[in-house]
Amino acid sequence: MNIHEYQAKAVLKSYGAPVADGVPVLTLDDIDNALETLPGPLWVVKSQIHAGGRGKGKFVESDAGEKGGVRLAFSKEEVRSHAEAMLGHHLVTAQTSADGKQVNRLYIEDGADIERELYLSMLVDRASGQIAFVASTEGGMDIEEVAHSTPEKILTLPVSGGVDVEAAGKLCDALKLEGVAREDGMELFPTLYKAFTEKDMSMLEINPLIVMDDGHLRVLDAKVSFDGNAVFRHPDIMELRDTTEEDEKEIEASEWDLAYIALDGTIGCMVNGAGLAMATMDIIKLYGEEPANFCDVGGGADAAKVAAAFKIIMKDPNVKGILVNIFGGIMKCDVIAEGVIQAVKETNLSVPLVVRLEGTNVEQGKSIIANSGLNVIPADDLDDAAQKIVAAVKGA
Ligand code: GDP
Ligand code: MG
Repeated sequence: MNIHEYQAKAVLKSYGAPVADGVPVLTLDDIDNALETLPGPLWVVKSQIHAGGRGKGKFVESDAGEKGGVRLAFSKEEVRSHAEAMLGHHLVTAQTSADGKQVNRLYIEDGADIERELYLSMLVDRASGQIAFVASTEGGMDIEEVAHSTPEKILTLPVSGGVDVEAAGKLCDALKLEGVAREDGMELFPTLYKAFTEKDMSMLEINPLIVMDDGHLRVLDAKVSFDGNAVFRHPDIMELRDTTEEDEKEIEASEWDLAYIALDGTIGCMVNGAGLAMATMDIIKLYGEEPANFCDVGGGADAAKVAAAFKIIMKDPNVKGILVNIFGGIMKCDVIAEGVIQAVKETNLSVPLVVRLEGTNVEQGKSIIANSGLNVIPADDLDDAAQKIVAAVKGA
């Protein structure tokens, strides 16, 4: 689960991390109130969307081709004009689709004088089975680009059980922190570790962490994701969820306890299990098409759940064909078949559908589909299924 920058900063601030004063704003009428608590003389007006690269982004409709989704303001009037240009408009960044995301919230922040921009993040490092810090002096930029062109400028430091003085010192060295900045860093890194572990974060990215003119550190940007399987333990975090930022179909799927992932291709995939999802998508690509999404119905689905999954897949306008690829282990093939039939009837299916069933009660499953009178293309194995759906989509 992702949250907005201003929410992430509030969480970090509650642990004592250095963040600027700021006020979230939902309407233009809120701006005067916000400005009362932020004295200036420098403000930053920041679009709040669940996507990065806002500073270099562009608005589609408003003023402004030139200016991005993060803007400095040197007067209260300028804060207002930036806010008007952003609120309600669509911001396109390297991380959004070409249509961008509508900006419904702004964060107005006390501006900082920047001496240096650094990169710091934390993640769950599967290779070492530990939480790792990633640190670089090259902040404010695309870290993938830094990793590609100058990998020697990035330190990855797994830490186990906490950040001791030695680990904090290594991070300070990697970021070339001296004087008060180093003192701040020695305090900040253990603080971030505490916040990360206590709140069950899966990712925390501070890009940039800055050294200010006065030598102190400040968290200038913050992106946080939480482990979706653990948020139930944190009602305070759950309240921060902004469903307007999420794919409507992914929300519906989560209500049915289905794992739905939206992708860019043309073939909708209904599968059970992550491994089968990967294999199904690989083989679709092998035969020259791309998956539009996949919906994992998991182990214990009933006919109603299968029907719900089917309807969610159908809602994606890019879907030109559907491949159902289910292995009936715990789940029985006749149950799947009944769910598929029910869903096909209810949705007035208008695209080709290929069904490949294997496993428990496979014969009953196949005969339910064959006797349904519906236009469903049966397949014998995965290879056959992939070729059939790709041919059907290409022929359409
Ligand atoms: P992002 O583009 O979505 O990653 O948004 P950021 O919060 O990282 O802001 C983008 C850039 O705006 C930063 O890298 C800074 O260069 C600049 N910026 C943001 N806040 C301030 C500030 O308080 N003072 C100054 N001088 N620049 C800022
Ligand atoms: Mg940033």
